Amino acid sequence: MSKKGLLLCVCQGTCPSFQEMNVFEVLNSLRRENIFDWVGLHPQLCAEDGDRYLMELLKGADIDKLYVAGCDPVMQKKMFRDAFGDAGFDKDKHVGVEIRNMNTEQTINAIKNAAAQ
Ligand code: SF4
Repeated sequence: MSKKGLLLCVCQGTCPSFQEMNVFEVLNSLRRENIFDWVGLHPQLCAEDGDRYLMELLKGADIDKLYVAGCDPVMQKKMFRDAFGDAGFDKDKHVGVEIRNMNTEQTINAIKNAAAQ
């Protein structure tokens, strides 16, 4: 079975786009269903320390798909490109999931749908 990791990124938790959801409920619900091998939360993956976090996490990581739920997937591709490159992580293993302006249930469903593709 392929290994899947999930990161939630929430623009520091201050952006209005992420105010309708309970991020802890989202993560808890998904981990209870065993859809992912692991889940995590980061406040700002596109910041410098977010790059470092991705590098440390993905360096030599045994993972087939990394799902990042947050902003626009096309933006994500651009913002994480250097970190993936530095970590030696195949960028095609990254799947961005748009969750802005969703409530808890909508967020859970959007992530589940992405993981089911
Ligand atoms: S990666 Fe996207 S969701 Fe995360 S802080 Fe940056 S803009 Fe916001």
